[in-house]
Formats: sequence, C-alpha cells, structure tokens
Amino acid sequence: MTVKARFAPSPTGFLHVGNARTAIITWLFTRSQNGHFLLRIDDTDLERSKPEYEQAILDGLTWLGMDWDSKANQKDRMARYEEVIEQLKTDGRLYACYETPEELGLKRKTQLSRGIPPTYDRAGLSLTADDIAKYEAEGRTPHWRFKMNHAPIEWNDLIRGPVAFKGEDLSDPVVLREDGTPLYHLCSVIDDIDFEITHVVRGEDHVSNTATHVQMFEAINGKAPDFAHLSLISDAEGGKLSKRLGSLSVKDIQNDDGLEAMSVVSLMSRLGTSDPIEAFTDIKSLIDSFDFSKFSRSTPKFDPDELVRLNAKILHDTPFDAVQDRLASMELSEIDESFWNAVRPNLEKLEDIKEWWEMTNDALTTIIEDEDKDFIAQAATLLPDAPWDETTWKTWVGKIKEGTDRKGKGLFMPLRKALTGMEHGPELANLLPLLGPEKTKKRLTV
Ligand code: GLU
Repeated sequence: MTVKARFAPSPTGFLHVGNARTAIITWLFTRSQNGHFLLRIDDTDLERSKPEYEQAILDGLTWLGMDWDSKANQKDRMARYEEVIEQLKTDGRLYACYETPEELGLKRKTQLSRGIPPTYDRAGLSLTADDIAKYEAEGRTPHWRFKMNHAPIEWNDLIRGPVAFKGEDLSDPVVLREDGTPLYHLCSVIDDIDFEITHVVRGEDHVSNTATHVQMFEAINGKAPDFAHLSLISDAEGGKLSKRLGSLSVKDIQNDDGLEAMSVVSLMSRLGTSDPIEAFTDIKSLIDSFDFSKFSRSTPKFDPDELVRLNAKILHDTPFDAVQDRLASMELSEIDESFWNAVRPNLEKLEDIKEWWEMTNDALTTIIEDEDKDFIAQAATLLPDAPWDETTWKTWVGKIKEGTDRKGKGLFMPLRKALTGMEHGPELANLLPLLGPEKTKKRLTV
C-alpha cells in the first residue's frame, strides 16, 4: 500500500514554527516511505482565510524544501461536502440545534459550577415541531451536530500508543454552521477518505477531535487512517509557547532573523526524538533516519538560540556553490570561493559576511589615535613575512611584545582600530590572512 499523508494548514495566518514542525515531520515520514505528500489547504472558514496567507504558507514550505505531490483546497470541495452532509442527515447522524453562542456558554458555565463535564446536553435532539417553529419564527437558523455513538473509541497511535475514549464523554461536534458552511471536522474526514490518506500526522491538541473523527469515518463507511499525534513544543522553560514564540513565523526566521532553512529543518525534525539534534546541510540523512518510534510523548523544549547555533554549524559546512547566488543578491558577487572558505568558520548568519567583506575592502577608514601613532608604525615594521595564515597573528603579537612595551588591550585595541576601523569585530587572527600583507601595511600607515 502506498503511503499517502497530508499537511493541512488553515490559511488564517502565517506558517509558524509549530505548524512548520508538523509539516517537516509529515514530509520526512512520507519521503522515508516513498509516499505521496498532499498539501491540503483548510479554507472552509471563508472569512478568516486569506489568499496572502495561503501564498505565505506555500512560500514557507518551499523555502524549507518541503515539496508536495498534489494540492487541494477545501473551498473547492463544497459540493462534495454537501452530498455527504445530506446523506448523514438522512441517516440520522446529524441533528439541528438552535442555541446561540451565549446560551451555550451559559450551559457550559452551569455544568462546570455543578462539577459536571461540559459536554453538550443534546437539547437539539428533543426539540418538538413547536419548539423549532418558535425558533424559526424568531429568525434563528440551526447549526448541526454530529451524533456520537456511546461506544468505545480506540486506535493505536504511532506516537502515543493505544488511545481510548468513550463516545459518551465527548460533545457531539458541530459540523455545520448557522450560515450553512461546513466546519473543519467533517470536511477533514471526507477529504481523508476521498484522497485515500493512509496516515494523519498532527499535533496532540487534535487527539480528542480524532476520537470524534473515528466515528465520522465509520458513519461515512470510510476506513480510518493511522494516526500520529505529535506532542506540542514548549518554550525553553517547559511552559506553553509564549505568544511571540508560538506565532514566530517561518517568514520571520527567514527574513528578519536571516537563518538558513536547514537550521529549522534540522531542529524541528529531531526535537522530541531519541536522535541527537545535529546540524544537517542535506535533507537525505534526515529522511533516512526518520522513524515515528523515536518520537517521545513528552513535551520537547524549543529554544530559538538553538536555531542560531545550528545555523552557524550549517554555514560552516556549506560549500561556496550553495551560497553563490544568494551572495550575488546581497550585492556581494565579488566574493569568491577562497574568501568564502576562509570566512565561513566565523559566520553565525549569512549576513555576517558583509561585515567581513567590508572589513577586508580598501574603502575602510582606519582609526589611529595620536598616542598610538608611534606604536602602530613600529608594529608595521614587525609584520611577519608572507605567506600568511591563521598563525600569523600570534607570531606578530609575539614580536610586538618583544619589540615594544605594549601588552593586552593597549596592544590589540590600537591594531584592531587601525585594521578594521572598529572597536569590535571578527577575530584579528582570522582577518589577517584575508587582508594579506599589502592591505595590512597600508592600513598601518599613519
Ligand atoms: N487545519 C487543521 C489545523 O491546522 C488541520 C488539522 C489536521 O491535520 O487535521 O489544525
């Protein structure tokens, strides 16, 4: 049987880290099984769904390297949903309810205050023709609920193991709004049947939804797929992801933070698994090592600093041809392979290379204070002979210590300011071989 899985984002916002993690894991699983990856856009909520969010989700997935074999939008499938809804009404599995949101809120409150679980009381099921006529005369239109069977619901979750619910503990889910538009639950089940989905991978916040979906699969005579519910990520302290972190979008990580896509993929594919978190420049090994049995049920901690650490490691291993075009778009097309190879061990983010490039460029204004003039002139005479490498700085400093009375900050700060025009910046030991003897001498000339 060919594996077919789907990632089903709602285009009501940008692709955020939590969703991206679900996408990455679903994609890796599918690719590890040579399966089919469906991108399903859950846009039944016509008011909140926006084309620009859908586009941002597609862009985010593309940036992450998550390609899809097919794509479907729920809003294009309304006729099919309608057909199934009619059938379920005929079968007596859907029933009309007339409560307003306020009335439902009040019922809930009363149940909670009496210590009763806040499940829907099924008042809709016992309405008389008179009750209905009265509501309709008031101008109310019904929403519709799916009637759960009071029976055990069980499945063997690929991550959580055996999961069991009792139908009677769950509220009958609303599947049709007052305005006649269908809600996510039923649409999702119909799609999973029609698109022959074999595996549903999603966050554990959907576990109780899944219990209701299992009965919907049965009611439509469909076969329920296998389920894998991922534990949700928490912040570094183990708390729920803050609003800022939870809504941290892939777009922000790409554009504002300037991080590499593979740092996100590396972290999100390994977080909460028994495999170590490592920096990967190539997705192949992540596909090959993917296995749901490595995922833990405990809540993994997401630390954005870890992304930056992985990012640095990824850059250190990235070959020149993988960044050449991006450097050109940063107006750094003059950078060649030898400069890239010399500088990449010092980069945390790709944009850091700008600083290095500017620093080794001729255009720099050096800073030489009056009181350092003699010292700088003397240091210039002590420069080691070419060729220069990363040991040159040490050799030079040794000679300066012998030949002058300077040491510590009094020694290196004037040199740093003369060579870089700044008080902070890259290690001088790394900078020196990039500058070479000619430019170095020029910058030390008072
Ligand atoms: N649109 C739903 C969500 O983003 C999809 C859940 C599912 O995978 O079924 O939570």
